[in-house]
Amino acid sequence: MYSIAIDGPAGAGKSTIAKLVAKKLQFIYVDTGALYRGLAYACLSEGLGKENREEVVGVCKKSRIEIAFDADGTQIVLLNGENVNPFIRTEQVSAMTSGISVYPEVREVLLELQRGMAASHDVVMDGRDIGTNILPHANVKIFLTASVEERAKRRYLEQAAKNPAVTMEEIRQDIIERDYRDEHRETAPLKKAEDAVLVDSSFLSIEEVAEAILEVAAGRGIL
Ligand code: C5P
Repeated sequence: MYSIAIDGPAGAGKSTIAKLVAKKLQFIYVDTGALYRGLAYACLSEGLGKENREEVVGVCKKSRIEIAFDADGTQIVLLNGENVNPFIRTEQVSAMTSGISVYPEVREVLLELQRGMAASHDVVMDGRDIGTNILPHANVKIFLTASVEERAKRRYLEQAAKNPAVTMEEIRQDIIERDYRDEHRETAPLKKAEDAVLVDSSFLSIEEVAEAILEVAAGRGIL
């Protein structure tokens, strides 16, 4: 089995690019952020805040998170059998997700699911700690980043359609806070694996980034 790990901060374009690379190689795309989001959604549904560590860990441990794929390869997150994709992309869920993913017990809940996917399929997997922690032997590791300004601009364009009240400054602040929490947590913080290839997408198109990754993959025998 081949695996391509793509890590990086929020808004760097990981999911768009990972999807494209997976399609070109006919690999499965695994969006690990969506799994953490599923757990955060479960906690929010129980009325919890990120500071309720014990209860959060309890809810995460008893929740059943599974991955399914629809006909065109889109990942579906099942929480106790229910498709929660429509509920996990809000700003509230984003903030809760980065808040609860600092807890090692929460990360532990998703460890085997992620490793199991890579053991049974050729995967492009994106997240924060795939190359450093989940798949240390991935065939290709990419650390995909972009400037805060560029990432805020992209998120704004994405969010403004859904929520016209949102401002660029709010999104910028949210990204800065999320980066900080992801980079400074004790367990599996966001950082470039030593053997990862750094790709800065600030001034590259989606196609150019995908091409760059496919070139690295080809160099490792993945064609
Ligand atoms: O990638 P996405 O924005 O969906 O991730 C949401 C949050 O989930 C991140 O800000 C991060 O806190 C957490 N996450 C993580 N490890 C991963 C993927 C996501 O901690 N592998």
